[in-house]
Amino acid sequence: MKTFPMFLQMADRLVVIAGGGEQAAQKARLMLKAEARLRLIAAALDPELAGLVASGRAEQVTEASAEAFTGAALVFIATGDEEQDVALHAVAKAAGCVVNVVDRPELCDAVTPSIVDRDPVVVAIGTEGTAPVLGRQIKTQIEQMLEPNLGALAALAGRLRSAVAEAVPHARRRALWDWVFAGPIRDAHARGKEREAASLLKAAIAEGQAPGDQARGHISLVGAGPGARDLMTLRAVKRLQEADVIFYDRLVDPEVLELARRDAQRIYVGKTVGAHEWPQEKIDALIVSAARQGQRVVRLKSGDPSLFGRAEEELRAAREAGIETEIVPGVTAASAAAASLNRALTERGATDHLILATATKRDDADAPDIAALARPGATLALYMATRQIPRIEADLMAAGWPHDTEVEAVANASQASEKIVTGRLGTMSRDLEGVTHPAIILIRFPMHPVAVAAPIPALTA
Ligand code: SAH
Repeated sequence: MKTFPMFLQMADRLVVIAGGGEQAAQKARLMLKAEARLRLIAAALDPELAGLVASGRAEQVTEASAEAFTGAALVFIATGDEEQDVALHAVAKAAGCVVNVVDRPELCDAVTPSIVDRDPVVVAIGTEGTAPVLGRQIKTQIEQMLEPNLGALAALAGRLRSAVAEAVPHARRRALWDWVFAGPIRDAHARGKEREAASLLKAAIAEGQAPGDQARGHISLVGAGPGARDLMTLRAVKRLQEADVIFYDRLVDPEVLELARRDAQRIYVGKTVGAHEWPQEKIDALIVSAARQGQRVVRLKSGDPSLFGRAEEELRAAREAGIETEIVPGVTAASAAAASLNRALTERGATDHLILATATKRDDADAPDIAALARPGATLALYMATRQIPRIEADLMAAGWPHDTEVEAVANASQASEKIVTGRLGTMSRDLEGVTHPAIILIRFPMHPVAVAAPIPALTA
């Protein structure tokens, strides 16, 4: 492809046409359709062009000087005289113009395509001069494909676009337009029943959907990351911009919600510690019911949705209701904490495995046994652990881990209020004092612990 097709804004822009006969008149007709301002360079004009000048739709210049071309968005050279065309081309090029010389492709910066005109729908066809006959055949085929009044239907759609945007939920718009252009509205309009077509479309807008559109709802479990909005994935942002409704948690940073589509509904379903105004079953039921109404539901969760976010319960509820689901992964808090510390989670020769664990269990279960998780050469990343620090310290010390085992805590990782504290296992409660929720606690167990007071659980334990 050596020429690039493009639709140029021509309204009110200056087009210079050199020539006063039929060739020039052809170009003038085209350019007037595009509402360009015309300047004709010719000593004499044929009656059609003279009429344009007389009615003020074009101006005439008799001298082909450089000034005559100044400010032209586009120049057509069409005098019908080969020698004169070449000379005028040189003047126009010297004036810096984009030039088309009729029937002289080698002198053209711009070539006019074959056009199928159903204004505002325009199809342009070009063959780069290789096969003009083929170009004409294609034009004929497209002329037959597109009913003569198609432009009026497109214009009607254009006038109703904002009404559709207001009344039809995002998830159903595509189906509505598909129905408009491939269904009864297009048929009625093509048969000349333009008023019937318009009322069908208006009725669908009032309904908020195309008739019979069973818009399928969808639930996306989207990872919001640790807080900083530039730590969200591009896919997560895309889902936020497609969403009809967003259910979000307490740990989701308001910054992140700003990325959502403006008219998406935002519903807070966070739990405050100890309080249960949003029991999980209620959240499950809410998101399923929103999806059943055909909405695109985003369930926005902090970090990665598949970690300690009760995602499986929501997925199960959706699955049981036959609703399509997906997970959009996110940067989990442990990764964000490592980034805050500017230190890797694993280190060759020192820590060769990573354990992600919660220090809190369901209300009715026992607190998890952190000592049972500990392994030589492991980095243990503890979620929901701020209230368990004294117990963690006591259990691990009792299990015989060295006093100087490294401990790090990062609260509000990646956010403006981020806080980093480092310490040692033996003095963990004191070192990590003041670390507030939400925080990740990282404990790096030595590969070859020395000075163990009690046996360390075997790897298989
Ligand atoms: N799905 C989330 C975890 C949810 S559980 C994730 O992948 O990160 C909630 C716990 O995550 C908090 O108690 C805290 O331990 C941790 N957390 C979430 N955001 C955090 C942040 N910005 N900084 C530190 N810890 C965070």
